[in-house]
Amino acid sequence: MSVEKLRNIGVIAHIDAGKTTTTERILFYTGKIHRMGEVDNGTAQMDWMPQEQERGITITSAATTCRWRDFFINIIDTPGHVDFTAEVERSLRVLDGAVVIFCAVAGVQPQSEKVWRQADKYHVPRIVFVNKLDRIGANHDKTLEDMKSILDAAPLPLQMPVGEESLFSGVVDLLSMELITWGEGTADPIKSPVPEELKEEASLWRDSLLELLSESDERVMELFLDGEDVPAELVMEAVRSGTLRREFYPVLFGSSLRNKGIQPLLDAIVDYLPSPRDLPAVSGSWKGEKIFRAPDPDEPFSALMFKIMTYSGRPNLHYVRVYSGSRRFGEKMFNARSGKVERALKILRMHANRREEIRRMDAGDIVALVGLKDVRSGDTLCDEQAPIVLEELSFPEPVIFIAIEPKSAKDQERMMEVLALLAREDPSFVVKVDEETGQVILSGMGELHLEVLVDRLFRDFKVEGRVGRPQVSYRETITGQVTAQERFAREIAGKEHEVSLTLMLEPLPHGGKVHYVDVCPDDSIPVSFKDIVAQSISDAASSGALAGYPVIDIQATLLDCAYNPERSTDIAFRAAAVNAFNRCLREGAPVLLEPVMSVEVETPEEFTGDVMGSLNARRAVIQGTDRHCNVEVVRAKVPLKEMFGYTTSLRSVTQGRGVFSMELSHYDPVEKES
Ligand code: GDP
Ligand code: MG
Repeated sequence: MSVEKLRNIGVIAHIDAGKTTTTERILFYTGKIHRMGEVDNGTAQMDWMPQEQERGITITSAATTCRWRDFFINIIDTPGHVDFTAEVERSLRVLDGAVVIFCAVAGVQPQSEKVWRQADKYHVPRIVFVNKLDRIGANHDKTLEDMKSILDAAPLPLQMPVGEESLFSGVVDLLSMELITWGEGTADPIKSPVPEELKEEASLWRDSLLELLSESDERVMELFLDGEDVPAELVMEAVRSGTLRREFYPVLFGSSLRNKGIQPLLDAIVDYLPSPRDLPAVSGSWKGEKIFRAPDPDEPFSALMFKIMTYSGRPNLHYVRVYSGSRRFGEKMFNARSGKVERALKILRMHANRREEIRRMDAGDIVALVGLKDVRSGDTLCDEQAPIVLEELSFPEPVIFIAIEPKSAKDQERMMEVLALLAREDPSFVVKVDEETGQVILSGMGELHLEVLVDRLFRDFKVEGRVGRPQVSYRETITGQVTAQERFAREIAGKEHEVSLTLMLEPLPHGGKVHYVDVCPDDSIPVSFKDIVAQSISDAASSGALAGYPVIDIQATLLDCAYNPERSTDIAFRAAAVNAFNRCLREGAPVLLEPVMSVEVETPEEFTGDVMGSLNARRAVIQGTDRHCNVEVVRAKVPLKEMFGYTTSLRSVTQGRGVFSMELSHYDPVEKES
């Protein structure tokens, strides 16, 4: 199989737009599954973890390979819930093109806007599928308008939808000018000439298509302006190259639930989305030097390990995206981070929960490996003779935590093992043991995120235990500038350790970390000791003076240092730096900071007042509202502490029809309760 015949795509959408339903249909029509799953009764193939099926949501980006015509399509399923942003980011990092699904009733919703912008960031070419045209209130014009006004993107409809709402029956293909209709059930589409009564409208749609294409392709422009026929192959070529350059976004129409529109969508995926060959060389570095690798099997091998999946009683699966070169199973791969050699015992193409063993992986492939030993999400595997570190993935910091307690001593060991596995799988999940209380603390991105992880621990891995209530992960900072001089002098095991240093701490504006800046005037201190001071301060900053939360938004400066080449040892520097830092923290008028979230609530108009009320009761600062049709979007900043349990209360004030999403905005000082 050649790389040109490969498509690595993601399906991205707002919750409930129909991502899972559409993916199911794609798998059905490409022949990979024989019985169609339905999201609503929890049998969808892509959502296969029990936690996902129960909640009707998609959490893990399982990669699934399927075949259409003589092309291979790898589908990376991306989660829609914002608690899983890290998952969306890493899928976008490894896919080459995306299908964006909009709901024809709701149009471009806030979360679709968010993922659209994320896809912009990664320069991902996209095609758009406007779904749910069978629903009452479906309005394709509005969705196209939303694309222009909200996303500032140019839609390029390749079809004209035929029939509205329950009468939606098919589309006119504007390239071939044929009518495509679907009957009941899963039967193949029927192609026929465009009926007389639709001809005029269809030719207007085709003219707009050619007009937009003319702006990006001169050959189309010449023929179009001369009133000549533009051959279908030329149109396809122009659509493809404009899509790859992201000048416009081809739009198709359908109703996944009614099995309408899927085959043309599959055609569009292979015809217009990029193959790995169409992409620029991937960049990385080695020892400070920038390196590029072309998507070519003959280049040195490079691959990004983007996802580990852990199963109870089964070997881990490591999902990799191969960027260049190739490897057979059992062949050496060099882990650029650990410096160790890894070997894959098996290379697998995955179908949500079924697997096919293959002998080698080539540039462009997305496969799962079995048998890797010491790898983390984000690691680069490469050729030892041509090492490279591909750009790493970045993950947001956890804002919420729970304490967890094993039922027995026997469970303790097993629990720590499993937690370590789960944390490798998901870098936005952190496990820590509280040094003072010995409690095990799990931190993550939100209530649902932790709930799902704990559920996997208890159910899949059969660990028994109890969890506490979710709690806010606060931060600490200081509010005043402060200086401390600290002398450390002690004899340890017959050796003198001594140093004196002066440290200054200053508060920084919102959003920083501890910055350590060395302006010590004394050049006589070896750089290695300055590094020790920097490292000691950054370690000490993980636990503040008030309640042991991480310290942020602080700048530390080493002002002075009395150094003695004989007695000023590592130990002395470390102890003096930590003591000075801790004293500064205590004396710098420390305050607790709480995470404040950007919250977006969508609700049918009639509940807007109640939604505002529910937010105001939670110390919200309302930022504004927008209306799309009769859906109101309320934007607010709300302290995370107040958002616990909001899912339930929103459900009750909107009769189950409101949805919300939130992400970290910033940290604010906690107001003293009077
Ligand atoms: P996801 O959250 O984006 O994965 O969306 P799902 O695929 O889970 O679909 C959400 C809901 O919309 C489910 O109840 C589906 O049955 C329903 N749905 C999906 N596609 C269509 C469609 O084309 N028409 C209608 N009427 N409902 C649909
Ligand atoms: Mg889903």
